[in-house]
This record gives sequence, C-alpha cells and structure tokens, in this order.
Amino acid sequence: MVKKIVLTENEIPEKWYNIQADMPNPSLPPLHPGTKQPIGPEDLAPLFPMELIKQEVSQERWIDIPEEVRDVYKIWRPTPLFRASNFEKLLGTDCKIYYKYEGTSPSGSHKPNTAVPQAYYNKMEGVKRITTETGAGQWGSALSFACQHFGIECEVYMVKISYEQKPYRKLLMNTWGSKVYPSPTNLTEAGKKVLAANPDSPGSLGIAISEAVERAAMDPDTKYSLGSVLNHVLMHQTIVGQEAILQMEKAGDFPDIVIAPFGGGSNFAGLSFPFLQYKINEGKNIRCIASEPASCPKLTKGQFRYDFGDTVGLTPLLPMYTLGHNFVPAPLHAGGLRYHGAGVLVSQLLKDKLIEAEAVQQLDSFDAGVKFAKAEGILPAPEANHGIASVVNAVNQAKEEGVSKTILFNLCGHGHFDMSAYEAYYAGKLTNHFLSDEELTANLKELEDIPVE
Ligand SMILES: *Cc1c(COP(=O)(O)O)cnc(C)c1O
Repeated sequence: MVKKIVLTENEIPEKWYNIQADMPNPSLPPLHPGTKQPIGPEDLAPLFPMELIKQEVSQERWIDIPEEVRDVYKIWRPTPLFRASNFEKLLGTDCKIYYKYEGTSPSGSHKPNTAVPQAYYNKMEGVKRITTETGAGQWGSALSFACQHFGIECEVYMVKISYEQKPYRKLLMNTWGSKVYPSPTNLTEAGKKVLAANPDSPGSLGIAISEAVERAAMDPDTKYSLGSVLNHVLMHQTIVGQEAILQMEKAGDFPDIVIAPFGGGSNFAGLSFPFLQYKINEGKNIRCIASEPASCPKLTKGQFRYDFGDTVGLTPLLPMYTLGHNFVPAPLHAGGLRYHGAGVLVSQLLKDKLIEAEAVQQLDSFDAGVKFAKAEGILPAPEANHGIASVVNAVNQAKEEGVSKTILFNLCGHGHFDMSAYEAYYAGKLTNHFLSDEELTANLKELEDIPVE
C-alpha cells in the first residue's frame, strides 16, 4: 500500500486556478462602506497593489504564477500527500483516508502559499511596508517570512488574547523582522474606540483588521494584506488541490469526499476548488465539506447577506455568510477559525449547494486530533483538528450506510506552537461552546442599516 506520495519541483503548478471562471452564479459585487454602491478597482488601490486587485475580480480560469514566486515555493513545495493507513486502522474503517500535509512550510501551515505572492506583487509595485492582523499567529508568521524574503517591512496587529497565549508565535515573527502589537492598541483610532468601550477587550480578528486597514490607508507607502477570505487569497491556495489531484492520480485513486477546516475559507478553497472543477464541469459526484467550530458557526448558522470584513466598518461590504461583524467568538483554542464571516466565493458556492458545511465541537476536534497524532505521528494544528473530526464523522456515516468512501482532507498545519491548547485539553480545561440563537439574533440585528443582498 502506498504511504507517501511526493512530487518533484517541476510538478509545482505553473498556474493558479480561478474558480470564478466556472461558477454557475457569479458572486455579488463588493459595496463601498460609505455609499453602499458597488466599488471599482480605484476604491481598493489605497489598500492593495493593482495586480492583486485585478486577480480579485478576474474571470480568467488560469493565472500564471510568477517564476520568482515558484522559486520561493520550492523551499517547501510540492508538499507530501499521505495515506492515513494507521489512522484507518485505529478507526477500524474500510474507508480510504488520504491527507495533504501543508505543515512543512517555514511557518508551519498553508498560509505562505498566499503570503509569498502577496509580498511579491507589493514589492513589484514599490510598496515599503505591509500591515496585517493575525489571530493565532499563523498568518502573521507567514507574511513575516514572505516580507523578509522580499525586503518589505511588516507590521502585525495580533489579537491580544493570542499574543498572551502564544508568545513563541510573536518571537517567530520578530525573527523574520516584523513588529508585532497586541490588538486593540492605542496606535489607531479604531483601537482607541474599542479600548474606550472595553479597556479589557481580548481583541478579535475583526478589531485587528480595522487597525491594520487604518494604518495602511493613512500612508501611501504602506499597503494592507489579508490571509484569508478574499478571492485572490483563495486562488493562491489552489496549488494545494492541484498538487493533490496529481498525487491522487499517482495513488490510482480519486476522492469521494474532500474535507478541510474552515476559518475564512483559504485552506478549504485551496484543496477543494481544483476538485470542484470536476463537479461543476463534468458532473462528478464529489462532496466538499467545510468544517467549522460550533462556537463560530457562520456557514451553518450565519446569514447570507452583505457585511463588513472588520469590526469598525472600514472594509468594503462583502456578500457572505456572517454572524455579524461585531461578533466576538468564545475564546476557542483554534484561533484561526475565530472569524465572523466567510469568503465571498465559498459563500456563493454554499448558497448554490455545490459545497457543504458542518459544525464541530471543540472537544470532539481535540479527541480526533489526538487520535490522529497517535496513529500518524504528526501533531495537527487545533484548526486542522476540526477537519479531522469531520473525517471521523464521514467514516461513521459510511459505516452506517454500509459503504466505503475515499476521503481526502487538508492537514493544513502542525500544532507545535499550539501546545498550550493541548495542555488545556489534557488538563480537562477545554469546554464545548454553542452559539445561542439569542446571541446570534442580537448580533445580526446590528446589521439593520446594511443592505441584505
Ligand atoms: C489560518 C488557518 C486556518 C483558517 O483559515 P482558512 O483561511 O479558513 O484556511 C486553518 N488552519 C490553519 C492551520 C491556519 O493557519
């Protein structure tokens, strides 16, 4: 039985796959936060380099990956694809389980797949400094690595609770030359506003985004960068699924079910979009399942409507599944999944029932992740544990139906910087958390002034 399927450097994809070319229904346009009218490229120019704005709205199916970007990808790509044979045994299933492992990158997750091209296009357009936010620290680390490579300064607003829980992530960013601030800060109007209302605010991704966007908007040499949600970010990640298609071919197999954890949608899109081509264009029967935390369930409980990407309301309004931009999730240990909204492309695909979503409880996710680590050796990031819990659910469902399925999931990062979360789990300190309907309704009520669709 094949265990590990590797590719050569020459097999790193030469193009990104843009699913916008194949979607049966295009997504609605982003709206200006003030006028609430559709925005044009010039509205985004203060925040992003023009090449990324073009990619954001492009309808071309394939976009060339610059040679300079492929050269950096070669540090860790192509990433391996494994058959989880020992995990199959542990679960006692005759389903076949494969996983794509993105934890071999310098920062330990899939995030550099987009950080590197984003830093590259900024460099090409003469940008001196990039601001960003980070939750668990995965995105901040990835962008720090990429900015260091291309000689750009990087300023990271790190959600305060993670800043305190994960000192080593901060030090990793410092090693790559970044400045890291615990958000909310007193450096921005957005941060001051939040601190005035709640001096002990633990922060949230939405608040940190407001701060990073404000800093970039103020300075012509500074731009902003986002690690998930946006169309171009999801597209950059499609190298993951393209490699996986080649690797599944080499294994002589093809997945019935593709599973990935879901924060804003980038690692899910990265693995699933290239497979969705076959579903949309050839009618192949593939289930793609996004796995989100039950405490931050935008896909399974949120509303499809326009909402801001940040807390203060500085970003364009995006049509997406959202829990409301003021939503501050419970202090869940999968920091990368604590975002109130979902990427526009993924939201449209879910609305059109081309993909599915499932909510997973925190304790089930750690239970699945620890089983996986015992069987396969790799200790997953807490975010990835959610996907693994969904794999276990899929295996149980197949058993009930008396069928055998081929399952592929994205092991999007390792958990070596997240040991405090495992420590809390082993000590019995982690709890499950549901979002109550009252809480949800109250949050969505705050969106009354914003157009729905
Ligand atoms: C950031 C992150 C996520 C969540 O973000 P997506 O854009 O949904 O992929 C999940 N897993 C890991 C390891 C991450 O770093």
